Amino acid sequence: MDESTAACLFCKIVEKEIPAEIVRESDTALAFRDINPQAPTHVLVVPKEHHPNAAELAAASPALLADVVALAAEVAAEEGIDEAGYRIVFNTGAQAGQTVFHVHAHLLGGRALQWPPG
Ligand code: C5P
Repeated sequence: MDESTAACLFCKIVEKEIPAEIVRESDTALAFRDINPQAPTHVLVVPKEHHPNAAELAAASPALLADVVALAAEVAAEEGIDEAGYRIVFNTGAQAGQTVFHVHAHLLGGRALQWPPG
């Protein structure tokens, strides 16, 4: 872990330095329950490698972005929300509500979701 990621909350969860309720893990990504769930299923999926947001991840490593989305889909199937439908959200930047600058997909489902989001 270099200096830029040493203080990163989600890097610490990846390193198992701080606890999280992990639901699934691949070689490259980790899925854990959001501590403040907004839906019956609310899981965060992060790449193990530190990238600040989805756009930077897509530019640096498209395959890793695909790994994140694939792991989210696996969790959706495991949670039994894949047939009804679910949402995968990447808040990108402060105005969109991003508060943790280690890219994470929010997997939300288990209830009817409103559109457009607030
Ligand atoms: O998209 P945004 O950056 O706002 O999402 C960060 C998410 O990380 C929040 O939904 C928050 O509840 C979650 N979180 C968490 N575990 C922590 C700190 C934040 O699940 N220890």
